[in-house]
Amino acid sequence: MTSPSIVWLRDDLRLADNPALVAAVERGEPVVVLFLLDDETDGLRPLGGASRWWLHHSLAALAESLQAVGGRLTLRRGPQARELPRLVDEVGAGAVFWNRRYGLAARDADAGLKSSLRERGLDVRSFQANLMFEPWTIQTGQGQPFKVFTPFWRACLDRPEPRHPEAAPDELHVPHATPDSDDLDSWALLPTTPDWSAGLRDAWTPGEASALDTLERFATGHLADYGLRDEPAQEATSHLSPHLRFGEVSPFQVWHRMRGDLAPDAREQASGFLRELVWREFNHTVLFANPHLATKNYRPEFDAFPWHELEPGELEAWQQGTTGIPLVDAGMRELWTTGYMHNRVRMVTASFLVKNLLADWRVGEQWFWDTLVDADEANNPANWQWTAGSGADAAPYFRVFNPVLQADKFDKHRDYVRRWVPEVDTDSYPEPMVDLKASRRAALDAYEAMRRTTRTE
Ligand code: FAD
Repeated sequence: MTSPSIVWLRDDLRLADNPALVAAVERGEPVVVLFLLDDETDGLRPLGGASRWWLHHSLAALAESLQAVGGRLTLRRGPQARELPRLVDEVGAGAVFWNRRYGLAARDADAGLKSSLRERGLDVRSFQANLMFEPWTIQTGQGQPFKVFTPFWRACLDRPEPRHPEAAPDELHVPHATPDSDDLDSWALLPTTPDWSAGLRDAWTPGEASALDTLERFATGHLADYGLRDEPAQEATSHLSPHLRFGEVSPFQVWHRMRGDLAPDAREQASGFLRELVWREFNHTVLFANPHLATKNYRPEFDAFPWHELEPGELEAWQQGTTGIPLVDAGMRELWTTGYMHNRVRMVTASFLVKNLLADWRVGEQWFWDTLVDADEANNPANWQWTAGSGADAAPYFRVFNPVLQADKFDKHRDYVRRWVPEVDTDSYPEPMVDLKASRRAALDAYEAMRRTTRTE
């Protein structure tokens, strides 16, 4: 009799540097690799459309790479508290291993499953795989989570170097009776009518092989240009964000590639790049301490902020890139077409929505959640709150980005704007939907009104 090990993959759709998979191989019993689609457990945020597209292709790639080493991917759908124990019974599993996740509902679900399966005598273990610095390990001298990034970054640098990545298994053994698996297509993760995914297909190849290739090409190529990372027309950033989001590559692999063999001009940029990578860790630490980051202001004084109800058509103009502000429109169209937007332009488009249109940041966060292929439960709300001024280590509210000056500075030759808004210099391009100066003034007045309310409370 065998007692198979179940490896339950979630945000770690990779074979290399996957400690849960390594533990299963070391246990020596047959291995069942499971992915569960759970749209039912309370508190787990349903994936947006672009993420569902990515997930489909990432799972298809994972199934192929598992097959290449003798393994098999088992797909199941339903609440995890029901489906995981069900599979345990079906295969007679003796162990269940997974890599940790950090959202509250996910942690609660994991803790519940860990104790109930352990009570039944199973070997259940969780591993550190998706963050290099787990939230409870990096704290201030007073044992509190950091609220400011730079001391957090310094504290990370004071820790021992993150561990080296582990190799992918050469060979997996599956049980004699392999469990049934859903057909991936039956999950209908891909859009059909209309199929809006053509631009995503042109821009991306989901999956572990593509993630590793992207990392390698960046390390030996555009990393040297990372100093230009604020210029959206440049190919200066890594484009690793969706691969990291779905765990097709681990931060440990990225970290150690940057510490490895690099050309001298790339080496100069590597630490600036790792600092950005650690923003991802910081945001997860913020999420860990503030589980309702996507719905609640991190700074409660912002509960009194007088956000505006948008007029009919205003939100659509922002979403569709027809605001009449070229850099904003370019960014929103890049997002809609490719599922991605350059970081500088994310800041500008978000600032325009929350400051020039005075919309609640949650409205924009939800749109990005639905349209970004890298939509991440920590990075997305943390960055929206950063832009709105309500977040941890946030941009002060009164610093309002001027999208025209931002374009002059970071898209001097207008290459980025022209790529996405070809009609920008013609009569068919709309007039700006708001006056930038007057709306900036209104934003500052709203901020003052909030401060007066919170002072008198
Ligand atoms: P690179 O510059 O090559 O950076 C490497 C990696 O570091 C990124 O892949 C990412 O994992 C991490 N990183 C870089 N900048 C940040 C940052 N500001 N915050 C956190 N991590 C960072 N990033 C997401 O991964 N998911 C999101 O949902 C997301 N939403 C955002 C919303 C807004 C309003 C803003 C302003 C930023 C958001 N970002 C988000 C952060 C950032 O824009 C992207 O991580 C970055 O543009 C991804 O491109 P890249 O991989 O080429 O970045």
